[in-house]
Amino acid sequence: MIIEHINVYTLSSQLPRPFAFSQQWVTRRSATLVEVVTEEGQSGWGEALCAGLLEPELAASVIKHVITPQVLGRSVFDTEVIWHELYNRTRDYGRKGVVIAAISALDIALWDLKGKATQRPVSALLGGAFRLRIPAYATGFFRTALGQDTSALVEEARRHQAAGFSSMKIKLGFGVADDLRAMADIRDAVGDDVELMIDANHAYTVSEAALLADGLKDFRLRWFEEPVNPDDKEGYRLLRQKTLIPLAAGEAEFTMFGFRDLLAGRCLDIAQPDVAMAGGLTAMQHITALALANGIQVNPHVWGTAIGQYASLHAIAATPLVNPTLAARGPIFEYDTSAHPFRSDLVTQPVAQTDGWVQVPTGPGLGFTIDQDFLREHARRY
Ligand code: MG
Repeated sequence: MIIEHINVYTLSSQLPRPFAFSQQWVTRRSATLVEVVTEEGQSGWGEALCAGLLEPELAASVIKHVITPQVLGRSVFDTEVIWHELYNRTRDYGRKGVVIAAISALDIALWDLKGKATQRPVSALLGGAFRLRIPAYATGFFRTALGQDTSALVEEARRHQAAGFSSMKIKLGFGVADDLRAMADIRDAVGDDVELMIDANHAYTVSEAALLADGLKDFRLRWFEEPVNPDDKEGYRLLRQKTLIPLAAGEAEFTMFGFRDLLAGRCLDIAQPDVAMAGGLTAMQHITALALANGIQVNPHVWGTAIGQYASLHAIAATPLVNPTLAARGPIFEYDTSAHPFRSDLVTQPVAQTDGWVQVPTGPGLGFTIDQDFLREHARRY
């Protein structure tokens, strides 16, 4: 299984209705995809996550000009060696952001190929599956209008509850008073049996986040995600001393080197690397070991296309528990319910939840088949 050539694709689709999170309005969804083709003609697929309005051409350029010349002719089984070579070669201008997202895409595609070559699911190659069935939570609650009217949020919460979700994550960060009003109305609508999480997308200072956490202390939140700026590690540590709500973050952090201080500094309760951003499945293994050694549970962030979703299912399957007990709750799958055509239509069998659960694929590789008609129609060869 020698890498013969690499195809890079960019996808971009305008949203019929833009939506906001605390940092910006999202007007389109994009993705950077990589197809690694072996001498035998086998294809493996990977993705570099396009968060927010990140241009898909940025990671595509790194894959084409930096990664491809480095890995042609190499064995798909050398994932660890290739990862370190690419990281070291790009260290002076990489280490975070799109360079690591590009390495992630290549790495995911190589794991897909390793699975296809051995006829094993990727979770088995990662060391085996602790679980083949994962609870899913609804992520959504993006805003289509700003203001104090919470009726759209309440309606969305009821919709997720009716679809079978018993956990959901609410986008906050629109001002402490507005956030508290939204949470009160949502809790009223869905009752006490639904588990809620909140995500401020680092909208707040430590004192604002502490005020919000205090106002929600009786909501039994599973976690408070990205309360403060990802660069403010001391802020996370301080906030963690002010609230009993577990703190989560990591979608804006990269590789074991980026996660080291967050984990060793005990800044978090839950680490959320994104497999298509933080360095691929190889980096997930590094980060998971580091988190475990520091007593912090990994629960991946998932916001990409179907490729990122499938890769995340295998990563979650292979994630050990930091505190394994009879009553321990395992990691939970982030099920993006916002508009994203490349999540639902890119593969012939999109990830689907049933009664709030998703299944880990057990076929060879990552376990999906690309819809070639959809790809031809929507993807641009870079
Ligand atoms: Mg988030």
